[in-house]
Amino acid sequence: MNILVTGGAGYIGSHAVRQLVKAGHNVVILDNLSYGHKQSLPDGVPFYQTDIAETNKVEEILRTHRIEAVMHFAAFISVGESVEKPLRYYRNNTAGAMSLLEAMERAGVKRFVFSSTAATYGEPAEVPIYETTPQNPINPYGRSKWFVEQILKDIAAADPDFRFIAFRYFNVAGASADASIGEDHQPETHLIPLVLFAAMGKRPNIKVFGTDYPTEDGTCIRDYVHVDDLIAAHILAVETLGNAPQAAAANTFYNLGIGRGYSVKEILDASEKVVGGKIPTVHGERRPGDPAKLYANSDKVQKELGWKPQHTDTEEVIATAWKWHTTHPNGYSGSSF
Ligand code: UDP
Repeated sequence: MNILVTGGAGYIGSHAVRQLVKAGHNVVILDNLSYGHKQSLPDGVPFYQTDIAETNKVEEILRTHRIEAVMHFAAFISVGESVEKPLRYYRNNTAGAMSLLEAMERAGVKRFVFSSTAATYGEPAEVPIYETTPQNPINPYGRSKWFVEQILKDIAAADPDFRFIAFRYFNVAGASADASIGEDHQPETHLIPLVLFAAMGKRPNIKVFGTDYPTEDGTCIRDYVHVDDLIAAHILAVETLGNAPQAAAANTFYNLGIGRGYSVKEILDASEKVVGGKIPTVHGERRPGDPAKLYANSDKVQKELGWKPQHTDTEEVIATAWKWHTTHPNGYSGSSF
């Protein structure tokens, strides 16, 4: 299929581009490079440094490349920043998606795979979280994605030819097996890269945010899904959407997590095994807005799309991240620190 990947120079989007090309699809990348990395772009794949808000330009790209489906990864992802700058999040994540969907409507592109988030559940009423668990996002980031979910339902209701699949991501982690691409956020806020930075001496230590949660070891529990497994689900989705007889699996929402939670302490222990030594750790206060336990029930995506995560051992996931960070200690911007 001819597929446009927005945010294709970002962490998750760059892994999507690699796997789509490998699976034989014709990929076109759109990224405004506000956070994406030019160095992650593979040779031979058309790239446009364009913002999703540029509706006319996006429409032209869709027409030029006869795009059949869009995978939309371009978005801001920082919960804390979204609380401080809500309009920035609604502008880019919600209005940006609307601009993209409008360009698709004008160009007659009817297939859409959307990156939503477990943050749309807020403090969930139950764990594991099912797709039917009530959604009650507690910050602008979660709400900016929740709005797009509602918009997608409305578009699908209005246009019987429009088909979408939206994934609610849990904690995405790891890097490509060959360590040629990986996670490089500025600033980095995610647990696994920060733990590994402490192991590398790039940071003095890792601070555990809260040790008094109502969990077995007192630290928060999350569901860590390997980025390549996450992308494998997107490829199943886009191929399903492109295949009319299987359209039953369209216009729906799937949790993407491995269905098992690991505590911060377990991630630290697994990381120490991977790096082969102690990682300097300090205990700190709880981070505001962190629920004690978030992990998915992902039976729906396994049953309906036939997805099966390959990396269910956290040590294996962390090992891929370790290989990336140790070979790219300054991320994409140089090779030494
Ligand atoms: N965390 C931590 N120290 C850090 C960063 C994160 O203890 O420096 C904890 C955080 O409280 C949460 C888990 O690690 O329980 C995962 O956090 P992350 O920011 O990676 O993802 P989130 O679950 O917030 O999407």
